[in-house]
Amino acid sequence: MTPAMQLEHWRMHTDESGIAWLTIDVADSAANTLGSAVLGEFAQILDLLERVPPKAMVMQSGKEAGYIAGANLEEYARIEAVADIKALVARNWGLFNRLEALPCPTLALIRGHCMGGGLEISLACRYRIAVDEPGTRLALPEVMLGIVPGWGGMLRLPRLVGPAAALDMMLTGKQIDARRARKMGLVDECVPPRVMESAARMLVLSGQPVRRAKGLQAWLNGPLKFVAAAGARKQVAKKARRENYPAPYAIIDTWQRFDGNCLNVPSDHPASLDHIFAQGTARNLVRVFFLQQRLKSLGKDSAFKARHVHVVGAGVMGGDIAAWCVQRGLTVTLQDQNIARIAPAMSRAAEGFSKKFRGDRKQVRFAMDRLIADPGGRGVAQADVIIEAIFENLEAKHALFRDIEARARPDAVLATNTSSLRLEDIRTCLQRPERLVGIHFFNPVARMPLVEVVEADGTDATVFARAMGFVHQLDKLPLPVKSAPGFLVNAVLGPYMLEAIRCVDEGMTPESVDAVMESFGMPMGPIELADTVGLDIAVATGKALTGASEVPDALAELVQAGKLGRKTGEGFYVWEDGRPRKERLTDRVPGLGQRLLEPLLMATQKCVATGVVADADLADAGVIFGTGFAPWTGGPMHYQQREQAA
Ligand code: NAD
Repeated sequence: MTPAMQLEHWRMHTDESGIAWLTIDVADSAANTLGSAVLGEFAQILDLLERVPPKAMVMQSGKEAGYIAGANLEEYARIEAVADIKALVARNWGLFNRLEALPCPTLALIRGHCMGGGLEISLACRYRIAVDEPGTRLALPEVMLGIVPGWGGMLRLPRLVGPAAALDMMLTGKQIDARRARKMGLVDECVPPRVMESAARMLVLSGQPVRRAKGLQAWLNGPLKFVAAAGARKQVAKKARRENYPAPYAIIDTWQRFDGNCLNVPSDHPASLDHIFAQGTARNLVRVFFLQQRLKSLGKDSAFKARHVHVVGAGVMGGDIAAWCVQRGLTVTLQDQNIARIAPAMSRAAEGFSKKFRGDRKQVRFAMDRLIADPGGRGVAQADVIIEAIFENLEAKHALFRDIEARARPDAVLATNTSSLRLEDIRTCLQRPERLVGIHFFNPVARMPLVEVVEADGTDATVFARAMGFVHQLDKLPLPVKSAPGFLVNAVLGPYMLEAIRCVDEGMTPESVDAVMESFGMPMGPIELADTVGLDIAVATGKALTGASEVPDALAELVQAGKLGRKTGEGFYVWEDGRPRKERLTDRVPGLGQRLLEPLLMATQKCVATGVVADADLADAGVIFGTGFAPWTGGPMHYQQREQAA
């Protein structure tokens, strides 16, 4: 059959039992994505299957890398006119309807990632089998890109698993593993790889009725739709405002009022594609996705692979950096002044591993075996990378680095995690100052994706490249920055937090200051952030950044009283169970958002202008992934540009 059709991205053969095995294997690509060429061929395949239906059809992937990663985002990002987006949706909506209507039974054999359009094409098959492997993950993550699952996902997923689970998947983009998928009815079977083909054969020929949500979920899909929709709207409203994030609201509306078909939504309705694309978030989130890809690609080609890391300083940062490296498979020696200072980091790590490995004791033990308490610093002599994370004190760092340089391998990467000391000042103690780089992690290490990799004038390019490769190896996003006070992230956060504290000094409540930035889309307000970082650290960093000795009265008074924020139980807020107690909002100050944003935007601009980061895109990436800056904006530089253009 295939040769006549000249397929580049698909293969099809019919076995002796009459089952057509359709394999997607997109040419010149590690992963399968659904671009127009791929779906153009799929249309031809459907023509054939409609004309000469086989006994059954099984769809599978020919890639090691997984099943189908979703739409082809590069192609999608190039589309400018909404009319063209609608045409794309209409074509794929039609294709998947034809797949669903084929006269023969169809089955998606899902092994590896099955995302977005990949899940939507699978939902149009009569049956689904998920292969029980850690890499098998099913999701509709469109919402994370500011768009909606418009190729049938909003229609078929709620019908299959019920609206509660379907809306949860579509509104969060969460990934479901094979076993969970079976449990919730997203797939019919979950099988080990060795039997997947025979299981597919049996199921596709079984004549088993098509799955549908039953009981209450069926009611919620029908006459009680409004109940499920109202609940979902309430949940979404807690996290995202419609003017910044229209997609989740559009998903609920489209499912409830337009049969899950976004082509049915009138152009003037806020759930329409016209509205979603006119608003801008969708394009900005795709931009953020590509920025993330860019950071992910940095350091990727490095031949340097660290096996042993030595961390000095087992405090807040050092302890967590060590645990993260261990989790990524490295062996870590952890040094501090004595064993008693290392012990808390070891038990914190054990707790973290236990959570990560869901109580699997063997895995936890293997990880703990790779984390070695090393009060004598013996690990220095073997390590590939040595990270210093001791007190922020220049003399102490000098004494330590002198000792380290004398004992370290000549090719080991020497790195400091300092936030506020100058690389140029720290490295004066070294025989070979060019080998010191900054590898600046953020707190909490496990949750923050960004790591700044710092170079000063004269830093050895090979060492710097190794440091970038090392951060990539740790599965963090490396951001190359030049040595300057606060690098990028703290240089941008500092003036913003200072302005917020000045507002409190002027008599505004912390709640009103925080609320305005939270509604802009920041993960937490600037005053809560100051309390979280620690007010003593906020003072020290502020001084180091600006050189100013003047501290806002409100801040100085709290620090003097020992009220340092979350860690002491009180700062600007009183903290209970790790949460700030907030009073009800009474005041809303007009223009406050703009006032608070201004210093952040100016500081980002300055970092670009002075070359702390190489370009505006890297600045946007760094500020988004290092501070959580409202992703819907596409980043502070992009936001400024758009505001100026508007
Ligand atoms: P911390 O006070 O929690 O821990 C410092 C540890 O270093 C202590 O356990 C101390 O005993 C140990 N130490 C001090 N001198 C030592 C020496 N000579 N040899 C061995 N151990 C020694 O400090 P932290 O908050 O983890 O900060 C450490 C470094 O990380 C600083 O340079 C800081 O600027 C930087 N940093 C901190 C944060 C943060 O949010 N805390 C974020 C990024 C970077």
